[in-house]
Amino acid sequence: MQLFEKLIEYPEAERLVLESTPLLPVEEKPLGEALGLALARDLTATTDSPPFDNSAVDGYALRSADAEVGRVFRVVDEAPAGRPAKRSVGEGEAIKIFTGGVIPEGADAVVMVENTSGWGEEFELKKSPTPGTNIRDAGEDTRKGDIILGAGTEVGAPEIALAATQGYGVLPVYRRPRVVVLSTGTELVEPDTRDLQPGEIFDSNSYAVVAAASEAGAEARRLYAASDDAQTLRTAIEEALLSADVVVTSGGVSVGEKDLVKSTMLALGVEQVFWGVKFKPGKPLFYGTRDETRLFGLPGNPVSAMVCFDLFVRPALMRMMGREDKRRPRILVYFERDIVNKFGRLHAMRVSLKRTQRGWLAESVGAQGSGLVSSLTKADALALIGPASEGIPAGEPIEAIVLRDEKLQ
Ligand code: AMP
Ligand code: MG
Repeated sequence: MQLFEKLIEYPEAERLVLESTPLLPVEEKPLGEALGLALARDLTATTDSPPFDNSAVDGYALRSADAEVGRVFRVVDEAPAGRPAKRSVGEGEAIKIFTGGVIPEGADAVVMVENTSGWGEEFELKKSPTPGTNIRDAGEDTRKGDIILGAGTEVGAPEIALAATQGYGVLPVYRRPRVVVLSTGTELVEPDTRDLQPGEIFDSNSYAVVAAASEAGAEARRLYAASDDAQTLRTAIEEALLSADVVVTSGGVSVGEKDLVKSTMLALGVEQVFWGVKFKPGKPLFYGTRDETRLFGLPGNPVSAMVCFDLFVRPALMRMMGREDKRRPRILVYFERDIVNKFGRLHAMRVSLKRTQRGWLAESVGAQGSGLVSSLTKADALALIGPASEGIPAGEPIEAIVLRDEKLQ
């Protein structure tokens, strides 16, 4: 029987994962596909933005020197957005202009139509503008040559907007990791394919891991559920290795006789970085490398699989994409009651969060069994309860990893 040779602590395991995770190659991604990726280099403004002086309102462009209240102006041309006026503004003249229209030569102010007698061939001024009124200056947003986005910035909707204003159609980003997900277990049945026979369960882990990996920005796909048979496993893992930057398996990685994932990986040339973390839920986690590929053997219990994904696989995927925010946010939480940890290892306890005057109140989501999938849907955070035998007194602040950022808003 194989036993854990050496269990390591959670921070050590996280460090080993991050240290051994490469940045993926840089590629030019079309704007529409860059969401969630990180810029591989600084982005420089190619033009002044806006590129020309333009109107902030609908109204009339005129010379502020002429603009006494009560004066009547002659409208000599128009300048809608995209169609500059053909002539310039002279004394007592105005050019009809709309938001985004180029300020005509001669004009140094725009009066809103609301501050005139209205649209027409002529109008009377009701309020006089000062020079520059309602004019958006060329380059007031960004100037040609400025660094508009720094390397490492995560590309979100605002970054896409800014890049597009500068004419960028593609962005230099670290490419998305290709994740192949393989669940293992003879008892597993694909949902919605047939009824369960005695002893069988539906495979939930591979779907959950694909979803979580996609959420992290990876390109994830599910292989299938492989049975606990040595040859089947070997074939499946070989297939996963063909195209993956990261292989994530679930199940079959503990010390049971049917737990063949680790030995199969090793037989395929995977180098073990660690196997076994002093941590609950998820003690049997395996992590190894083969050339540029990273392999995570998650435990089969669904809660362990998801917690291990979150704490180890997710940061690795984020790191591969060059994301600065590879770790989930951490906050201090407190409990209303004393908490004991009887497991003798760090307990990442599923808790819900409530904001109170004293800070974040954590409450266990209930039973902490690692097969309780429903508990995951209730967890906002993982409170990190150390193994000290005295436990944690009520009110004492402890660190928690936030799973649902929206809770913090
Ligand atoms: P194992 O790590 O293979 O010993 O599995 C531990 C527990 O997790 C067993 O009860 C398995 O039936 C269950 N399990 C393993 N893989 C999955 C999966 N893909 N989806 C849901 N449950 C699983
Ligand atoms: Mg199993």
